[in-house]
Amino acid sequence: KMAMIEFSHVDKYYGKFQALKDINLEISQGEVVVIIGPSGSGKSTLIRTINGLEEIESGRLVVNGLNLADKKTNLNELRRNVGMVFQHFNLYANKTVLENIMLAPRLVLKRDEAENKRLAMELLETVGLAEKANSYPRQLSGGQKQRVAIARSLAMKPKVLLFDEPTSALDPEMIDDVLNVMQEIAKKGDMTMVVVTHEMGFAREVADRVIFFDQGQVVEDDSTEDFFKHP
Ligand code: ADP
Ligand code: ADP
Repeated sequence: KMAMIEFSHVDKYYGKFQALKDINLEISQGEVVVIIGPSGSGKSTLIRTINGLEEIESGRLVVNGLNLADKKTNLNELRRNVGMVFQHFNLYANKTVLENIMLAPRLVLKRDEAENKRLAMELLETVGLAEKANSYPRQLSGGQKQRVAIARSLAMKPKVLLFDEPTSALDPEMIDDVLNVMQEIAKKGDMTMVVVTHEMGFAREVADRVIFFDQGQVVEDDSTEDFFKHP
């Protein structure tokens, strides 16, 4: 399968602090990769480089054919194809759920309004929130907001979906609803997913591959089966 994300010898600094150290990783199209590791080890930094939220200092990083080491690379083009779901949903508070989902496709892709709405409603069905289309974010629980955020990312039809601790800010009883939606997306098989999470059950059941990250480095990179064989 085609490589969708390729890191080679990537370094990243915050001032003098080296957050990423010689990262070498290749992630294929359709692969579901979970990244685990201690807090402060650089997981978030790593995935934020993939959609250009963090610049890299050296090495080569190619995502969907775009070279991110080149400062001239068009980040808008990159982000059309690389969606990201954050810990804190970042929904537009003054827009309805449906509007939150329709906004970017309308503005960025100029998608036809009827088609945009049809797709948005279909995505709300997928995440189990069709009845909330006309609600505002403040009327939703954390888990519902996160599912809307996922639907919003999907509306752009990205090739890659990045998740930065998508369930860490949620009450325990809502975590499974969000993980189940992510599992459904993964099952379809066409989305490349990179997920930073502490949810080991999700890693075990959904990931193709698990990466253990520590102190800015890939310490382990295994198939899920091999990863969980370890004592
Ligand atoms: P993780 O996601 O594994 O918790 P992060 O990628 O958030 O780790 O952070 C890795 C390290 O880089 C931490 O030591 C953090 O304090 C530091 N760091 C993250 N972002 C910045 C920043 N914008 N400026 C300076 N240091 C940062
Ligand atoms: P989280 O781990 O929940 O993502 P953090 O507190 O690590 O949140 O980071 C929140 C924001 O602060 C991020 O934008 C990150 O880049 C920045 N940040 C994290 N650590 C540092 C740091 N040591 N110096 C400056 N900015 C930082």
